[in-house]
Amino acid sequence: MHKARKRFGQNFLSDSRVIEKIISVIAPQKADHMLEIGPGKGAMTLPLLKHLNKLNVIEIDNDLITLLKSFNNNNLIIHQGDVLKFNICSLPSPLRVVGNLPYNISSPILFHLLNNRGHIEDMTFMLQREVVERIVAKNGSKIYGRLSVMMQAFFNVEMIFIVPPECFKPEPKIDSAIVYFKPITKPLVKDIDVFEKIVKLSFSQRRKTLKNCLKSSLTQNQTSIDLSQRAEALSVNDFIQLTNDYEKRY
Ligand code: SAM
Repeated sequence: MHKARKRFGQNFLSDSRVIEKIISVIAPQKADHMLEIGPGKGAMTLPLLKHLNKLNVIEIDNDLITLLKSFNNNNLIIHQGDVLKFNICSLPSPLRVVGNLPYNISSPILFHLLNNRGHIEDMTFMLQREVVERIVAKNGSKIYGRLSVMMQAFFNVEMIFIVPPECFKPEPKIDSAIVYFKPITKPLVKDIDVFEKIVKLSFSQRRKTLKNCLKSSLTQNQTSIDLSQRAEALSVNDFIQLTNDYEKRY
């Protein structure tokens, strides 16, 4: 019997109706190139395999790797290790990425995938509901922040449905939710590193105005964006404009 490991964020899906619902949202097609992050004991893996020629999975927990190998399924390609160190581009593209993600490292995983977005067709994940709400939040909302802006600048994002704690073993303390990401074909951001720097600085002190947060980087006469506002007032396109103005500043 495998004991759930907290340090690996292990909450295993146990509700077969929810699993079926997730599979129908993913809608796998035979020839899809797919990667499942954190297959665990295979709750989603086995149903996915029924629809696919091949499925790649990446799992960190050695004991679960042994379990996955015991399925003896030739269509299951098992990679052992940390997804944060995994070279996504070593898999064929366009890649569909799915998973019930370990919640303790969900943001680093999302940023790792963001950095490999050129390789990705779409992504369907289970995350903490609160994180999904932040990802899809619009400007003006208190939960709109760096994660919302960074994801929405590169993906169309949609919260699909909520999954209550009873659907897992062990039960997490919080609600979860399914979120869908589709890369934007031609993102308007020119340099992601500069964009990320400006977004991060802008939200570094949420209660202060942009003028304060950006004072060592940009002044009001260098941009058309009103810097007397707080970061949470700016739309994603405003942040893109702000970054463009920053790049042209001298
Ligand atoms: N997919 C399974 C399910 O729904 O029942 C398990 C989901 S569980 C929330 C997260 C899974 O991710 C666990 O199997 C855990 O061992 C794995 N995991 C945690 N950290 C990881 C990492 N850095 N790289 C790869 N897998 C990881």
